[in-house]
Amino acid sequence: MTAATTTPPEHNVTGLDYSDRNHFRYTGPLIDVHAHVMVTRPSDPKNGPPSGTGPGASIDQAETMLSVAEEFGITRTYSMCYPDDIPVLRERFGARLGFNGSIAKKKADEPDDVAYQLLDRFLELGVEIIKFWSAPRGRERGLFVDAPWRIEAARRARAAGIRVVMVHVADPDAWFRTTYADAAKFGTKPEQYAGLERMLELFPDMTWIGAHMGGDPEHPDHLESLLERYPHYLIDTSATKWQVREVSAHHQALRSLICRFPDRFLFGSDLVTRHGLVREHYVSRYWCQRTLWESSWEGRSPIADADYTPGPGEPATPLLHGLELPPEVLEKVYYENTRRLLRLGR
Ligand SMILES: [Zn+2]
Repeated sequence: MTAATTTPPEHNVTGLDYSDRNHFRYTGPLIDVHAHVMVTRPSDPKNGPPSGTGPGASIDQAETMLSVAEEFGITRTYSMCYPDDIPVLRERFGARLGFNGSIAKKKADEPDDVAYQLLDRFLELGVEIIKFWSAPRGRERGLFVDAPWRIEAARRARAAGIRVVMVHVADPDAWFRTTYADAAKFGTKPEQYAGLERMLELFPDMTWIGAHMGGDPEHPDHLESLLERYPHYLIDTSATKWQVREVSAHHQALRSLICRFPDRFLFGSDLVTRHGLVREHYVSRYWCQRTLWESSWEGRSPIADADYTPGPGEPATPLLHGLELPPEVLEKVYYENTRRLLRLGR
């Protein structure tokens, strides 16, 4: 056997049997409010043609991901993808998909009109949410959540009937110790939230979704403060590796926070379709997400996690410690909160 066949895949380093789902407690439908179902291409989509019809473009991965989603009870998935992908995906998947338009500029010196034209395109295509991606690594490109062109984009989106904005601010604490150690360049983690709070104050009549447990599962007290001060701020559960690691590490505090604010959390996966992924990659993320929120399962995470540093003699992956949310809370987080927010039928 070669090394390639003996190295466990990133989606299952512990050799877990993903068909074991006896610990699942929830039997109703779920809505995934945060995913990236895209038309995939053989090249890196960042470098490849920004079009749903480029050479080698395929919806096979979307087909695989959404069939796995269905297996895990997900009836609708909100996707961030290129505008050109939307008609292709909508034609094939219909009501199984809704869309979220990410409003950004590729370069800091691009005119603001580039962002407004992108917004117009997404609005024509019927997106229900817009997204402001504002991770610290986007600062160099001017991707601040409260950049003037984003304030204007939010105003225009609101005038066109959009009620919901998703934001990505901050990143794992672990990255602020490594990738973002240069605070002069990237800002500290608390500094990432100043722009978000400004937007929450400027747009109290829109609903704001903080992606990836608000970017701060490491600090449940901070999330609590945001939830208390801004009634129009919600939080999605996406980014599986990050949440498995940090929600498990703070399971008591986060369980009680979600139970105190059961209407404010939304299920999300952050799964991304990519050329060449195997079915079990998608299975691993849904399995871990559901295990984390609804069960009392305890064991090592099956997913490789480069942001986890094991102590001496400890296993290579972090502990997954299920929160076992009460059934009435789960039903809200998995389904009802997003259904109500986006005014979907049952
Ligand atoms: Zn995402």
